[in-house]
Amino acid sequence: MKHYQVITIGAGAAGLVCALTAGQRGRKVLILDHSDAVGSKILVSGGGHCNFTNLWVQSEHYLSNNPKFSKSALSRFTPDSFISLLEKYNIAYHEKKSGQLFCDNKSKEILSLLLKECEIGKVEIKTNCKIGKITKNQLFTLTTNSGDYTAESLVIATGGLSMSEMGASGFGYDIAKQFELNVNPTYPALVPFTLNNKKSIDLAGISVDALVSCNGQSFRESILFTHKGLSGPAILQISNYWNKGDEIVINLLPDLNLAVLIEKWQKERPKAELKNLMSELLPKRIVLTFLKLNKPINQYNQKEITQIAETFHKWRITPSGTEGYKIAEVTKGGVDTKEISSKTFESHKVNGLYFIGEVLDVTGELGGFNLHWAWASGYAAGQFV
Ligand SMILES: Cc1cc2nc3c(=O)[nH]c(=O)nc-3n(C[C@H](O)[C@H](O)[C@H](O)COP(=O)(O)OP(=O)(O)OC[C@H]3O[C@@H](n4cnc5c(N)ncnc54)[C@H](O)[C@@H]3O)c2cc1C
Repeated sequence: MKHYQVITIGAGAAGLVCALTAGQRGRKVLILDHSDAVGSKILVSGGGHCNFTNLWVQSEHYLSNNPKFSKSALSRFTPDSFISLLEKYNIAYHEKKSGQLFCDNKSKEILSLLLKECEIGKVEIKTNCKIGKITKNQLFTLTTNSGDYTAESLVIATGGLSMSEMGASGFGYDIAKQFELNVNPTYPALVPFTLNNKKSIDLAGISVDALVSCNGQSFRESILFTHKGLSGPAILQISNYWNKGDEIVINLLPDLNLAVLIEKWQKERPKAELKNLMSELLPKRIVLTFLKLNKPINQYNQKEITQIAETFHKWRITPSGTEGYKIAEVTKGGVDTKEISSKTFESHKVNGLYFIGEVLDVTGELGGFNLHWAWASGYAAGQFV
């Protein structure tokens, strides 16, 4: 039986940062992962260019049953902390929009950086490792297909449930339950909606800028009509705040007041047809799908104008569901952070048992927040394991 001071289960973003931090402190660290590759989600992140952090990282951009939990780790590992690592390896990056930092080249550069830092910390990594039983006496004992191990500190960094083909599993939740820690319900998040609404199917492929609102939250970005429903950044963002049965309100013309504009058109272009005027503002296919009544602009009465403005400013839909964990970028919910120290990430109940990254009930908005949470929580735990 081989002994390590620290075993991290999961060689994703959080597990790698925790391991390299602990290794560079002189701890003897082993990472175990059941996949044949490490950091799969880092490689696909940001469309292959890894949106590795966001300049506006703050706990307000994270959803959790325990909203203040993320504050401490985020204050100890800031966007600059990760940027300085990139600069050490001369990795070029840029801000795309709204503080979102992406690599100029491929995400692979980020993974190589993390693996080099693991090497500096003499971290051992074992892939294709199926973990069976985990028990705890003084030490943790892990039974695996590549032998048995003992560890003083056990870090669970197995992520959430989305995209099982990239190694996702419910292992972290099972371990939490085994040690009698509460796990909050989990849901696919940052995920497209499905709609039982023909409008969307007819418009598949069209993308427009919109303001999308649900449960007191609003996001202004593009939406994309798909064959199954709606996607695009504004939809993914609002999906974090959506619960089954909730209505979503979409403003397709967020920059103007359509009723006022129609009245202006009535004076300035009285003979023009509404559908032609509206097509100056939105793709024609959208206008034709949403506009029930088309005639010259001077023939609309006040009631009709109000109704048309409502149609475009307040498109109300109740999604039938989401596209699920197959497509979701992240998992909302997870290991209850009330069970975990926000300073060390150690469980309050079980000495030496740590949970970091997406397996915890902390879900970031779209835009680099989730990877940043993985780095920040991994770094925090890495200092104490
Ligand atoms: C397509 C896609 C694009 C994304 N793009 C971005 C982006 O640009 N920016 C951003 O901030 N976030 C992005 N995210 C989210 C981000 O990738 C995750 O939030 C982040 O990777 C979570 O890190 P983690 O280390 O907690 O978990 P993961 O990165 O998921 O790592 C978990 C590791 O645990 C291993 N594991 C799981 N179960 C077991 C088990 N039973 N035994 C052993 N090992 C196990 C897995 O194989 C995996 O290696 C994206 C996600 C997806 C799916």
